[in-house]
Amino acid sequence: MSAIPKTQTAYGYERGKGSVAKYENVPVKQPGDNQLLLKIEAAGLCQSDLHILKVVDEEYPANFIMGHEIAGQIVQVGKNLASDPKYQLGSRYSLCICKSCGVCKNCRKGLDMCCDEVSGYGIGTDGGFQQYIVVENLRSLVPIPEGVSYQEAAVATDSVLTPYHAIRKVQQFLEPTTRVLLFGLGGLGLNALQILRTYGCYVVAVDRKADLEAQAKRYGAAEFYTDIGDSNHPTDSFDICFDFCGYKQTFEDCQDYIARDGKLVIVGLGNLQLNYMNFYLARKEVTIYANFGGTAGEQLACLELVRLGKVKPLIKSVSIDELPYYFDQLAKGKVEGRIVFTPPKL
Ligand SMILES: [Zn+2]
Ligand SMILES: [Zn+2]
Repeated sequence: MSAIPKTQTAYGYERGKGSVAKYENVPVKQPGDNQLLLKIEAAGLCQSDLHILKVVDEEYPANFIMGHEIAGQIVQVGKNLASDPKYQLGSRYSLCICKSCGVCKNCRKGLDMCCDEVSGYGIGTDGGFQQYIVVENLRSLVPIPEGVSYQEAAVATDSVLTPYHAIRKVQQFLEPTTRVLLFGLGGLGLNALQILRTYGCYVVAVDRKADLEAQAKRYGAAEFYTDIGDSNHPTDSFDICFDFCGYKQTFEDCQDYIARDGKLVIVGLGNLQLNYMNFYLARKEVTIYANFGGTAGEQLACLELVRLGKVKPLIKSVSIDELPYYFDQLAKGKVEGRIVFTPPKL
C-alpha cells in the first residue's frame, strides 16, 4: 500500500457560492486513539447535493467537504483499535450517512437517522469528496460483503437504502395483486423498481425522460409513461403510490391516482413544501408515509441484495476530478442512474 499523503484535494460546500468549491492542500487528518482512517474508494453524487449547495443559512457551517455516499478501506487505526480484528488494515466498509450518538431513544430503536444529535457525513460535516476521511464514530461503519464493489457499496448507503426503507414501511401491503404507481426514475427510483420486483406486484412507472422506458421495463416496470395522464388508468386506482420526485406535479398526481385506503409514500425532496389536499385524501382514507434515509440494519440488507444480484444499481464511475462537471450535468437532469467518483491513484 502506498504511503498516506499529508494533503489531498477535496470538493465541497462554501456558503454563498452556489456551486461546488474545490479545496486544495486539505490536510489528511490523523485518527485519534479510538478512530480510524478510511481511504475512500468510491463516493456517490446525489440529488441532495444540489440542495446542499443552495443552503444560505448562517447556522450551517460555512465550509465542509461534501459527499454522503461513501465506501472505502481502512488504512490506519488508532492505538486502541490496533488489535481489534474488526478493524484490520484493508477491511472494506461503507459508512452510514448519519453519525449518530447510539444512546438516545431513537438510536436505541435502531433509527440512527432520527438521532437527537445526528450529523451527516458530507451534510454539514466533512464527507466523501476527498481521498481520506477520519471515522470518529465507529457505529457508522457497515461492512461490505465480498463480491460487492466499492462503487456498489457507496450507492447502497443512500440510493438503494432510501427506497428500501420506504418500501419496507408498506411491505405488508405488497401482494402480487397490488397496483403500484411510481414517479421518478433517477438513482433512487430505478433501484426502487428492482426492490419492488422482489415482491411481484404490478408496477407502473412514470418519468418525464422517455428514453428511460427500456431501462424501467428491464428493472421490472410493467408499464411506463412520461405522463400518467396519457395512460388509460383512472384516478383513484393505485393501492400504493411512490413519489421519488417530490415535486408539486408528482405529488398532485399521487393524490389523484391513489385509491381509497391507499398508501402514499413520499421520498423525493424536489420541493421542500407541498400542497396536501386535506378533504380529498381524508375522503379516501389515504395514509401518507414520509421517509428520510434508512437504518444501519437496512443498509446491511441492501448490501446483501446487491451481493445476490437482486439489485444492480446503474452506476457510472468517473474520476473525482470530473466532479464539477457532473454536478452541472445532474443539475441539468442529464444523469442516468448514479454517478460515483473514484479517487485518483495517489
Ligand atoms: Zn443523498
Ligand atoms: Zn442518538
